[in-house]
Amino acid sequence: MESKKYVYLFNEIDATMRNLVGGKGANLGEMTKLGLPIPQGFTISTEACTKFYVDGKTISDSVIEEIDLAMQRTEEITGKKFGDIENPLLVSVRSGARVSMPGMMDTILNLGLNDEAVLGLAKLTNNERFAYDSYRRFIQMFSDVALGLEKRDFEDILDDIKESRNVKLDTELTAEDLKEVVAKYKELFRKEMGKEFPQSPKEQLINAVRAVFDSWDNPRANVYRRLNDIPGNWGTAVNVQAMVFGNMGNDCGTGVAFTRDPATGENKIFGEYLINAQGEDVVAGIRTPLPIAKLEEDMPEVYKEFMEIANKLESHYRDMQDMEFTIQQGKLYFLQTRNGKRTAQAALKIAVELVEEGILSKEEAIMKVEPKKLDTLLHPTFDPQGLKEATPIAKGLAASPGAACGKIYFTALDAKAHSDSGEKVVLVRLETSPEDIEGMAAAVGILTVRGGMTSHAAVVARGMGTCCVAGCGEIAVSEKNKTFTVGGVTYNEGDYISIDGSTGKVYGAAIKTVSPEISGYFGTFMSWADEIRSLKVRANADTPKDAAQAVEFGAEGIGLCRTEHMFFEEDRIAAVREMIVSKTLEQRKVALEKILPMQRQDFIGIYEAMEYRPVTIRFLDPPLHEFLPSIDEDIKDLAEQMSITYDELKATIDSLHEFNPMMGHRGCRLAISYPEIAEMQTRAVIEAAIQVNKEKGFNIVPEIMIPLVGEVKELKYVKDIVVSTADALIKESGVDLKYMVGTMIEIPRAALTADEIAKEAEFFSFGTNDLTQMTFGFSRDDAGKFLADYYDKKVYEFDPFQKIDQTGVGQLVKIASKLGRETRPDLKLGICGEHGGDPSSVEFCHNVGLNYVSCSPFRVPIARLAAAQAQVTNKR
Ligand code: PEP
Ligand code: MG
Repeated sequence: MESKKYVYLFNEIDATMRNLVGGKGANLGEMTKLGLPIPQGFTISTEACTKFYVDGKTISDSVIEEIDLAMQRTEEITGKKFGDIENPLLVSVRSGARVSMPGMMDTILNLGLNDEAVLGLAKLTNNERFAYDSYRRFIQMFSDVALGLEKRDFEDILDDIKESRNVKLDTELTAEDLKEVVAKYKELFRKEMGKEFPQSPKEQLINAVRAVFDSWDNPRANVYRRLNDIPGNWGTAVNVQAMVFGNMGNDCGTGVAFTRDPATGENKIFGEYLINAQGEDVVAGIRTPLPIAKLEEDMPEVYKEFMEIANKLESHYRDMQDMEFTIQQGKLYFLQTRNGKRTAQAALKIAVELVEEGILSKEEAIMKVEPKKLDTLLHPTFDPQGLKEATPIAKGLAASPGAACGKIYFTALDAKAHSDSGEKVVLVRLETSPEDIEGMAAAVGILTVRGGMTSHAAVVARGMGTCCVAGCGEIAVSEKNKTFTVGGVTYNEGDYISIDGSTGKVYGAAIKTVSPEISGYFGTFMSWADEIRSLKVRANADTPKDAAQAVEFGAEGIGLCRTEHMFFEEDRIAAVREMIVSKTLEQRKVALEKILPMQRQDFIGIYEAMEYRPVTIRFLDPPLHEFLPSIDEDIKDLAEQMSITYDELKATIDSLHEFNPMMGHRGCRLAISYPEIAEMQTRAVIEAAIQVNKEKGFNIVPEIMIPLVGEVKELKYVKDIVVSTADALIKESGVDLKYMVGTMIEIPRAALTADEIAKEAEFFSFGTNDLTQMTFGFSRDDAGKFLADYYDKKVYEFDPFQKIDQTGVGQLVKIASKLGRETRPDLKLGICGEHGGDPSSVEFCHNVGLNYVSCSPFRVPIARLAAAQAQVTNKR
């Protein structure tokens, strides 16, 4: 039997193997095929990673054998030898998953150096200083990444030696100094590990591969995956690539570049590089690099070749590329290329221009933008007036556009904690590192002191669409005191600042923000998405203002108007509370009389905002704990309003207490107990429609939706009230008004008996919030408290309240859709739970054959794009 292959030389790889060899591996193979100058090597597949975990975190002997063999082949190709004293082969060992996860996993450079190879390297390059510099970097990186020793302890040794030599920069240390550093590093290693630093390159390599596999499961990678919907079972590949050196002298250098500007999308090479440096110096943001244009002056020949290859790569991949390159003694190498991360603005401009340039079709172009990314364009920018009045206190690099105003916090942990408690947070750091990921995700803005446009903070912030100002050296941050100082003023933890990621300006006060609009490239791009998709997109909107916002963002109707939400405001909630605590029909009617005109007026406003678009109005569904007064003050006021005593009211409230209000007296259950509520709501819906159709000449067809139905007779009972009330009103008005009555499918029993329910319902809307809570059997209100443990223990990979659980809840949606349409072939199907705005859930809805998704106004553009992408991927 032929055994499975786990290791591939770059020249054995092509673009179709991405899932197997990861994005980086696939691109290295592809570039090798294109004949580009790529340091050669091999890729250990993602399947080897999966196997590593299945085998209890060990690399099997057969995989090790394959690695040995690939290493020998690499030696032949490069003409160098692993661990050789004459002509040593050194390699980099880097992770590379199917999709890039910048900085989330580990990398080791210069692997293969030992006490002998360092001599070989020195001789070969005629540069002893360089050889020992590489060796000390390797010892530190290997010890830290592969064996978990403290990086800081190594840095302290280096700092001590620099201090003793009275120099500031690493580059000022001599070969002799660096030999001493190496000796001290090895001593530290011996002390910490109880053995010598490993001299066998093979042993080093296997340890490094293990470290990369291990890093797939580190906490920051797990958080990144959850934020980006990347499944845990994909695993990472490991790329082992011959090293080339950008730090062998002044005819060397290293850099990163994008074929178009990743912040604005402008079609112009964008990048930076450092002379005499290694890649990590650029990415870590320790030295501030030079713009790529300067390379044209420094090394015109190299620049010319670089530009030719960059253009070739962009045409080949038909997308903007993010490339890493190294120049070793005047010779250019490309270390990797990938489709570059970019801001939402840039993504739209690039996608539209690639179509205009004739490179992509519209279908291909709309696949280039991640739907969730649009979010950044839908959120506020600074109010121009507020901005005019504000004076910047500092300026850094405009690393990721957008405007943010929030309270400053200096650690990722603090940022996360304060954001969780509802504050808007700006994370301020000297520089960010991958450990900061959760704090960065929680922040509305990120401000760093060090680092360039390609530093970790900048790359990650752009990826997340979070506003970021990087490299703002003007502010002096004290991480210890949790303050920063600029222009003699000190800003403390919790103070407000505003940052502008489009200009790099920092303001020492809160600046008002304003809503965005869809125009320009965004408008063109979205119009293509609309041409392509078949799934309609509606919005969940409860007020005329939200309805107008939804139309602005392209909603084609309202899929859910939660009528109880119309009463959250202070002056209205009293009427609803009065209705809830009423003990007699008379009392309740008094309260309903107060509610009726408010509801009618709101519906008029909503119909007017929606014009010809459909509007689904859901009848009252107030979980009692959200509406009952709990503060003494409120209870007193309400008692007074109802002319009863405090004690009397308090006793009623106590009697209404439910142990599990989410499964309590809400939804249609209220209307069954108190039909007058459904009657009043029908009146408001129908009277408003009659009035608007009469006055404006619209043709509003209200869709009345009955919530929390689990049994067809519940629906029938409420529907009868609706129909008799509505028909009487319509007759009386003399206007020919059409209306529909449908239901939410949000209780498992409703899904399972959907054929019965469809006899009474003209439409279904899946309430996947309740359907999820009831299918899983955990409360929406309480699950947040323990779901984090589920992620930590890998019981769940994602929050089923955000992303539809296709295996369980999704089954119910499928069953109900099928059963419902068997009874009523033209049954209109939609979804209005939170999932309606989640891209992977939207794709699911498309595949199940729903007519529309409905989500919050701010997610409407995201859903429109996700629906178009679903159409392209799964034509229906
Ligand atoms: C639902 O349950 O999915 C729904 C949309 O209703 P609500 O969130 O108001 O319960
Ligand atoms: Mg519900």
